[in-house]
Amino acid sequence: MPTDPSALNEAARRTPLLAETEVLVLGGGPAGIAAAASAAAAGRQVLLVERYGFLGGMGTAAGVTNFCGLHGNVHGELKRVVHGVADELLQRIDALGGLNEPHAIFGRTLAQAYDGAAYKCAADELLLARGVQLLFHAQAAGVALRDDGDIDALFVETRSGRRALRARLFIDCSGDGDLMHWAGAPWEQGDAHGELLYPTLMFRVAGVDDARAGEAWREVGPRMLQAQRAGRYRFARQGAILRPMKHAGEWRVNVTQIRNAQGRAMDGTDALQLSAGEVEGRRQVRDFFAFLRAEMPGFENAYLLEIAPQVGIRETRRLRGQAVLRGEDVLGCASFDDAIGVNAWPLEQHVAGDVKWSWPSEQSRGFNQLPWRMLLPQRVSNLLVAGRCASMDAVAQSAARVSGGCFVMGEAAGLGAALALRAGRAPADIDVAALQAALEQQGAYLGRDIH
Ligand SMILES: Cc1cc2nc3c(=O)[nH]c(=O)nc-3n(C[C@H](O)[C@H](O)[C@H](O)COP(=O)(O)OP(=O)(O)OC[C@H]3O[C@@H](n4cnc5c(N)ncnc54)[C@H](O)[C@@H]3O)c2cc1C
Repeated sequence: MPTDPSALNEAARRTPLLAETEVLVLGGGPAGIAAAASAAAAGRQVLLVERYGFLGGMGTAAGVTNFCGLHGNVHGELKRVVHGVADELLQRIDALGGLNEPHAIFGRTLAQAYDGAAYKCAADELLLARGVQLLFHAQAAGVALRDDGDIDALFVETRSGRRALRARLFIDCSGDGDLMHWAGAPWEQGDAHGELLYPTLMFRVAGVDDARAGEAWREVGPRMLQAQRAGRYRFARQGAILRPMKHAGEWRVNVTQIRNAQGRAMDGTDALQLSAGEVEGRRQVRDFFAFLRAEMPGFENAYLLEIAPQVGIRETRRLRGQAVLRGEDVLGCASFDDAIGVNAWPLEQHVAGDVKWSWPSEQSRGFNQLPWRMLLPQRVSNLLVAGRCASMDAVAQSAARVSGGCFVMGEAAGLGAALALRAGRAPADIDVAALQAALEQQGAYLGRDIH
């Protein structure tokens, strides 16, 4: 039979086992940090695997440098609704001098900026203090399955070569759902038309005259429009999130929008699109930076401090789990019997050329609960999935994907894994009331007191 010239055979190989652990967390973003921290605090042996040399996920690797979803507008009162592991992480960032005061978003909720470097250090400290083992510079590349279809081991590519990591339970916090995909758990990508939220390459500038810049975040949209109408610039998206950081003269910029060759949102799971997207992102950064210096008061002497190490990916694969959080759950402030915490961020849909915001009614409690079942896959019983790749429809994901929701999901996944191991059961079979009580005992807020 002629061989297919478009693919090559690889030699079969035996892969050395590098480590065995009770709980393996893939990915060190907000979901992975919280998952590892809470599983370890419950006394389990935890290994966190991360492809970069630092924690923070999109928060550091994609230069997000801002927490959303920690606060909510609860019957008109702006307050923190995400606690637990997030409290300790924020305290540690603050102790390093890297946490800004919360700032208002459209007068309807709050967000809180931070220094990426402080986040990296604080997350190391938090996880090491809880006894988590960290494996950096390890790119997960596949899984070995057992005969019953559960996961036996994760394969990673490291500087020492390809290695296997065996665990009893796995938590997929990779953002892109790599582990659930390899394990054969059902997932989906995109909305009904296959559209994804658009990615953004973030950057920060320094050397800004803050007094002259004033409330530049209000002025930037109209000035962009003017410049575009006059034909001086062409922007990929309307308006920009232009915000001061904690330190004088430093601002972050969230404005680029990355399309693929077909003019649709770049797919963060496509190697060629990802590569081309980095180049396109930097082209847009250069363009916008020129606009900032030329047309925004206070930015005349600004310089490019940092372009994020990678283009920021908002949405790729989403688990199709035992429950699916839906857009109407977010807007309707839904409750769930198996609540593990809350999401108070509105729908923030990065659509072609724009960002669409949709909020629950101002008379509502301003948050929806997140169900435990959105972390539970079908088919694979020793896997949990937390963070932006958990089980949500595309609309709900535009809200609960932000850091606040990811901390909540990660903390519950880690503690749920620990309770499952203690009980000798699969995560799907644990006593959910016991999980809820344990979450509240460690400071998490489940939103059970307000309707
Ligand atoms: C441009 C942009 C702006 C945003 N702005 C905000 C904001 O202002 N506030 C806010 O709260 N949220 C914001 N978000 C959303 C938020 O940052 C992310 O949705 C959130 O970080 C998701 O957390 P996570 O833990 O699920 O995944 P991620 O943060 O994506 O973390 C996943 C981690 O897994 C690692 N990983 C992935 N695959 C592998 C693999 N195969 N092997 C090893 N490691 C792997 C990655 O390196 C990464 O560290 C923004 C997102 C983007 C893209």
